[in-house]
Amino acid sequence: MTTKVPPLTYKVIAECSVTKARAGLMTLRHGEVNTPVFMPVGTQGTLKGLLPDQLIELNCQILLGNTYHLGMRPGIETLQKAGGLHKFMSWPRGILTDSGGFQMVSLLKLAQIDENGVNFCSPFDNSECMLTPEHSIQIQNTIGADIMMQLDDVVKTTTVGPRVEEAMHRTIRWLDRCINAHARDEDQSLFPIVQGALDPELRKICADALIQRKVRGYAVGGLSGGESKHEFWRTVHVCTDLLPKDKPRYLMGVGFAADLVVCVALGIDMFDCVFPTRTARFGCALVNTGQMNLKNKKYENDMRPIDDECECSTCSRYTRSYLHHIAAMEAVSCSLLSIHNVAYQLRLMRSMREAIQRDQFPQFICDFMAKHFEGEPVPLWIREALQAVNVDLPPDDVKVKEAVA
Ligand SMILES: [Zn+2]
Repeated sequence: MTTKVPPLTYKVIAECSVTKARAGLMTLRHGEVNTPVFMPVGTQGTLKGLLPDQLIELNCQILLGNTYHLGMRPGIETLQKAGGLHKFMSWPRGILTDSGGFQMVSLLKLAQIDENGVNFCSPFDNSECMLTPEHSIQIQNTIGADIMMQLDDVVKTTTVGPRVEEAMHRTIRWLDRCINAHARDEDQSLFPIVQGALDPELRKICADALIQRKVRGYAVGGLSGGESKHEFWRTVHVCTDLLPKDKPRYLMGVGFAADLVVCVALGIDMFDCVFPTRTARFGCALVNTGQMNLKNKKYENDMRPIDDECECSTCSRYTRSYLHHIAAMEAVSCSLLSIHNVAYQLRLMRSMREAIQRDQFPQFICDFMAKHFEGEPVPLWIREALQAVNVDLPPDDVKVKEAVA
């Protein structure tokens, strides 16, 4: 009997000799994914304003689908008839689905958590529903994503006291229920989530327990929820020290450019965030120096592309002036800016991978931060986080600002 190839394999291709960054290759049933990777979020089986073909043109290798939204609409039955989300949305590459729990707790004010699962009131007919670990896995098995997330007990990052510990232990118990309910282990990989808020001891207990289970990758959850940046990077640093090196590590809900660079240095391989497509809706384009608000009148007669180094179809065809002109026409503008913003994120990840492979990642970090914070001081948390992985940024070049002042 031949042994079947597992639905996810991960290989470290290059390691930075200074930081904890690594470049890797993750092979899924739906193609290869080069890590570190950014996964755009397609809430309802579509990225707002982007078609699958456009994502393929941008060389997007994996995207994220929201189980809560997909489970509500189109619903399990339709997805089952369609043969899963890949076929339904005509997307041949990788998909990761979340568990639905976080969306519920954050979207539905009435959601309540007990040992059984997350209780909520259906926003459609007000009936009482419950998302259990088993139910979440059943929906995710139907969606058929390459990577599925366990249902976890999410508390606000800033929560303190016994509730944090309770949620961490419950997350481990729910993981075992998810593993037992998982009916398609030969096609889909289930990732557990390290919880424990900002307490390094709790994070350690949680990570140790997860490592004992047979899984193919790990997620770090419960961050990017109102904690200070100082607490944020320390917790990421603690978690990447605890997790095994031979499996991918996914940091949930993080996507600002500077955060991505810091967290790759801390050893994270996968990211997702709604930010690039959300900010596009407000007329904002991502650039190396931060964000460009194209609604601003100063772009009225600016005939340059958003970024002349960007190879996306928006930058090769349209000027800032045109994008300013259509900024009020939300659908078109959102689509053109989403293309650029996703291209920006993917290009940033690609540059990091290449720098890691050349073993020049520390230099990449210094160049990136100099450009990103041009004329203003680099935030202290970034300096400290990078020092923790042996990168000393040069002193701030604040001459520009002083000269203006
Ligand atoms: Zn562009």
